[in-house]
Amino acid sequence: AKHKLIAGNWKMNGSIAANDALVRAVIAGLAQSDCTVAVCVPAPYLAQLQMLRHGSALELGAQDVSQHEQGAFTGDVSASMLKEFGVRYAIVGHSERRQYHGESDAVVADKAKAALAHGITPIVCVGETLAEREAGKTEEVVKRQLAAMIHTNGHCISEIAVAYEPIWAIGTGRTATPEQAQQVHQVLRAQLQAATPHAQRVHILYGGSMNAANAASLLAQPDIDGGLIGGASLKAQDFLQIIGAAR
Ligand code: 13P
Repeated sequence: AKHKLIAGNWKMNGSIAANDALVRAVIAGLAQSDCTVAVCVPAPYLAQLQMLRHGSALELGAQDVSQHEQGAFTGDVSASMLKEFGVRYAIVGHSERRQYHGESDAVVADKAKAALAHGITPIVCVGETLAEREAGKTEEVVKRQLAAMIHTNGHCISEIAVAYEPIWAIGTGRTATPEQAQQVHQVLRAQLQAATPHAQRVHILYGGSMNAANAASLLAQPDIDGGLIGGASLKAQDFLQIIGAAR
């Protein structure tokens, strides 16, 4: 089986002092891990992380990327800028950006394309609201979100990572069961398989209240190739326990 990918999404948390302590502790605990580990940090801290991770196996990620190359886009950060700091992953289309910044499926697909053009792996987030799940629309929603990605990125689609993050599970302590998550991951895998012969190499991550207690059973599912971790990635001990469960 391929190596799992465990990515922390710090969201809008951190400080120079707190990052220093957290990253040193994570790196110290990484030695025996045999999965890929990344932290996706706020853009102002990329330079700090580039220094802190130097010589370690910890990979660096961003939480967003502009769909544009450069120019008059105040506040945005381009893929080539991220690349200068050694960024390997960029989250795109997190539900918080779809919700608070109005990002459409088409914009998210363009962001992924910009990342891919600079050798950055986009971690494409998909997921349904509670209302959509209760209305039986989960598969329809995630398939629509992934279809936009496939439409825009064509044969590059095997170079992305996907994160299934049911919105009702994010920051709520209410995790999808391993069976619920696997069911959706299998749908996403099948959709990728219809688009590329390399669908098996795509990491499909689960995100949403993943923690030290529930990580192992989620990661044991055949189509769950890792995790995108919010709150629990801010505590070295918890994050390292999740990493330890990813074998
Ligand atoms: P929590 O792990 O805090 O639920 O956040 C999940 C998430 O949104 C990761 O991107």
